[in-house]
Amino acid sequence: MIFAHNLARVRRMRKTALLAAVFATPLVAQVQPAEQVSAERLRADVEKLVSFGTRHTLSEQDNPERGIGAAVDWGASEMRNISAGCDNCLEVVLPERMIEGSRVPTATRLRNVVAIQRGTERPNEVVVVQAHIDSRVSDVSDFTSDAPGANDDGSGTALVIEAARVLSAKSHPTTIVYALLSGEEQGLYGGRLLADWLGEQGYTVKAVLNNDVVGNSCGSDGYCDPDHVRVFSEGPRADLTDSLRAAQRREGGENDSPSRNLSRWIDGLAEQDEAGLDVRQIWRVDRMGRGGDQIPFLEAGYPAVRFSVAVEDYEHQHQDLRVEDGTAYGDTVDEMDFAYLAKVTQLNVRALDQLASVPIPPVPTAQAAVRTDTLLEWKGVAGASGYVVKMRRTDEPDWTQDGPIVNYERPRPGAVTPAGERTHSVVIPVRGDDWIFGVASFGPGGTSPFASAVPAGQFAPVVVEEDDSD
Ligand SMILES: [Zn+2]
Repeated sequence: MIFAHNLARVRRMRKTALLAAVFATPLVAQVQPAEQVSAERLRADVEKLVSFGTRHTLSEQDNPERGIGAAVDWGASEMRNISAGCDNCLEVVLPERMIEGSRVPTATRLRNVVAIQRGTERPNEVVVVQAHIDSRVSDVSDFTSDAPGANDDGSGTALVIEAARVLSAKSHPTTIVYALLSGEEQGLYGGRLLADWLGEQGYTVKAVLNNDVVGNSCGSDGYCDPDHVRVFSEGPRADLTDSLRAAQRREGGENDSPSRNLSRWIDGLAEQDEAGLDVRQIWRVDRMGRGGDQIPFLEAGYPAVRFSVAVEDYEHQHQDLRVEDGTAYGDTVDEMDFAYLAKVTQLNVRALDQLASVPIPPVPTAQAAVRTDTLLEWKGVAGASGYVVKMRRTDEPDWTQDGPIVNYERPRPGAVTPAGERTHSVVIPVRGDDWIFGVASFGPGGTSPFASAVPAGQFAPVVVEEDDSD
């Protein structure tokens, strides 16, 4: 192994790793939020959403029983009910704007439901779970026909509400935002509004989990896969500048965006739960020729992934309710698999629970030019009690080699290191050209995703320099 010539150092590292593991284990075993997820509640919420007839973005806004207005109001009231049960732990707001575009012929009011569960230590750090509440039929402009949208995206909407129910019983060091977005089918308007709104709040966005079509396990051809959920992530990040793109072409990093590392982290989290779903990482932004509400967040520079079913059922999405040659079309409740939806919800809840507890990953740099070893450096991040280094060969998909656990400061309970207080550095005894390096931070709540030491590997938007041409 690569560190075999330095056994004493490896032994020191192992000892530190053991210590870290001991300190990272909660002292009292509690019922985990994910264990509280209820398939029955998920079904009841999807049925309620379907009962609004249509949730098309251009449908009625002031009818209390039918249309997008009633659906959004119901979503907000559900979040308020949840808040009433947790000593007002959620702040519920409805950011809105007027929209117009190719699929929105007349100026239309668009409203999102946003419930904020403030973090107790670093409320400015935010993890988002979201889904779109609007629905459609075959003709994207048809806002009067029944558009049940049970799976697309009643499933994701119910998931977000259920996540708020089970996670609101517990406080976290950082903030969780639960969001129901409108206007997705007309052009990702609600996602764009939320991405703008998060920026206006000045939040540091650690991760965005977009859930869209997460509640069926069989396709229109009869092929079923109830064991996997797909997690989509971008390669080269959307907010790269020309100079960063050039730097990635030279030095690598096209497979190391924060979204890609978030996907790897979720895959690793899923593997810890034998009864849960396996993640099939899909290393593209979305399905071929299609999109979703993770895209506006990627464009804003925020790490974001899309969860979606392993097998899509094209006869039961974006379809008019009808029977043709004996085949029933339409996005209806009877085509869904609520045990499967509960498992996707559990994985989201486990990811949110951890992401809201761990520090943000640091921003590592690697220096390896004309030297036989590699210098990794990064500034400390708020809430971290230590850092983990991992590495992989440049043609390997996932982190394969453990590097050192460094600058570990034995935490007093609740002790945290202020951000940027010191620069951490470690020399890895390998020639860096042949490796990709990643650094994660950890605290009492667990270990963050890894951030890669590549151009634009940071879990933060790219800052555009004044003079980008040099
Ligand atoms: Zn959708």
